[in-house]
Amino acid sequence: MSLGSWMRNHPHFLETVYQFAEHTFIRLDPVVKKLGYERSNRWLKGPEDFAKQIVFDCRMCGQCILHSTGMTCPMSCPKNLRNGPCGGVRANGHCEVLPEMRCVWVEAFERSGHMPVYGHEMLFINPPVNRQLEGSSAWINMLTGVDNEVPKAWGGTSQRVELVLSEEGWTSGQ
Ligand code: SF4
Repeated sequence: MSLGSWMRNHPHFLETVYQFAEHTFIRLDPVVKKLGYERSNRWLKGPEDFAKQIVFDCRMCGQCILHSTGMTCPMSCPKNLRNGPCGGVRANGHCEVLPEMRCVWVEAFERSGHMPVYGHEMLFINPPVNRQLEGSSAWINMLTGVDNEVPKAWGGTSQRVELVLSEEGWTSGQ
């Protein structure tokens, strides 16, 4: 088993590391702002790509939602879905497109159940990925807030929507 898959199978550990990194970046924001977000992005995107590739098979979408998907990268889904699973999951829990691979979303749901802090975010509906952010640092995009913006031309909401299960079935919580 590779280091990456071992770590992905310890989602609570990854969640703790993520939480620490998130708090650290938020605290460092004034310094990053002084240095310039553009410059910081140039310095950070290489190391971020390197580390996240080892652990998450990251594709540098620039809009990281790992903590909302069981610390499982949604961009490794062959359909690049930001909300899954699709309707094609096989009976054995494997992918419709790559039958030898377990469905990314089956794993995301399983792992989110072991994440006491962010696990509930699995029920958020995410906007489609913004390809304009591809290749940039998701941490810097989090600080500038651009990762949460939906391009104006797309219309619609920039907020993620949480699903709630009630007697009427699944409804939007917002
Ligand atoms: S969600 Fe985006 S930034 Fe996060 S690991 Fe996946 S490709 Fe990388």
